[in-house]
Amino acid sequence: MIKVEIDPNAGFCAGVIRAIGNAESFLRANQGKPLYSLGEIVHNEYEIKRLSNLGLVALDFEDIYEIGSAHGESILIRAHGQPPSTYDTLKKLGFNIIDCTCGVVLGIQKAIREAGGEIIIYGKRGHPEVLGLVGQVEGRRVRVIENMADALSMLEDDCPEGHCEIFSQTTMSPVEYERICTMLSAKLPQLVVHNTICRQVAGRYRQLEEFARSHDAIVFVSGKSSSNGKVLSSLCKSCNIRSYQVGGIGEIQPSWFRAEDCVGISGATSTPRWLLEQVAGYIANLQ
Ligand code: SF4
Repeated sequence: MIKVEIDPNAGFCAGVIRAIGNAESFLRANQGKPLYSLGEIVHNEYEIKRLSNLGLVALDFEDIYEIGSAHGESILIRAHGQPPSTYDTLKKLGFNIIDCTCGVVLGIQKAIREAGGEIIIYGKRGHPEVLGLVGQVEGRRVRVIENMADALSMLEDDCPEGHCEIFSQTTMSPVEYERICTMLSAKLPQLVVHNTICRQVAGRYRQLEEFARSHDAIVFVSGKSSSNGKVLSSLCKSCNIRSYQVGGIGEIQPSWFRAEDCVGISGATSTPRWLLEQVAGYIANLQ
């Protein structure tokens, strides 16, 4: 019989818990009223569906103009945050803003506004959190690097001069960030390094490595658009060759498992606990 264990450290991060909690409280207290969210509140299709059944409507930034005048309708800003220009636009259109920007992200946004010299951000280009960080210093040049190769090309083709400061998107790999900062510090003596990987995310790397090594197989559950999910599922693969990334039970193949396996179930900071439990129950019942 297959044994199944859920990673005790998996599940939503504090920022996502707060944003979803605020959305649920609003929808309970204002039944029949729409609650918009600017972008999907969490990078998980199953949780999005659950929340949309409760009345949450995800909008892209372009969609808000189609609503036209909002007449006090409420719109939620998710944990990733937004640039100041978005708040200005929403207020002009008449939205009531429910700001669920994570406190950690707010701290980084403030540090970027106060940073001197040139600003470098290690993160995914186009990721909402990165757009929100870049937008804190509109009019100033911000270089976004995604990996070591980008950092090396920046030094070669477009090297910052004098004082510069580097920040990271909160969910990037702490190991790669450290490698990049060490390399850049050797070449840019005036570089100021800000340790802005989320502590909750950084702590998970070591825990997840141990969890992946101590199970026969790993099923990592995450949405396709979760950058944290991509990083953590490849970490599992590097520690345990029998690691499989799935969005939900529909993608699980029984042939992955042997009868005597102890299977570990884990997920990204955007994967709800109920989905991990559903996947665990499905695998435990495989013959
Ligand atoms: S990963 Fe960390 S910084 Fe990002 S939203 Fe979650 S708790 Fe906040």
